[in-house]
Amino acid sequence: MNLLLIRLLIFAVLFFAGLKLYRMYLEWQQSRSSEQPESQESAPMVRCQWCNVHCPEEDALREQGEWFCSAEHRDRYIEERKR
Ligand SMILES: [Zn+2]
Repeated sequence: MNLLLIRLLIFAVLFFAGLKLYRMYLEWQQSRSSEQPESQESAPMVRCQWCNVHCPEEDALREQGEWFCSAEHRDRYIEERKR
């Protein structure tokens, strides 16, 4: 009798945990789908690590986790870092 009760409890806990995870997943999916159109309307801007000028992400270059407006600035930044 006790074993059955424990099994029922475990089942209930698993059920509610699964339900919560499923709801979190749905919320995550909703927030994701609502964010996407916004980013398409206004192109995300990134700051050049060398000259601090903001430029669209699609025109920028990425190197070692940093953004740069041009290949020249990227190379200069890397040169400065080496020293
Ligand atoms: Zn720059």
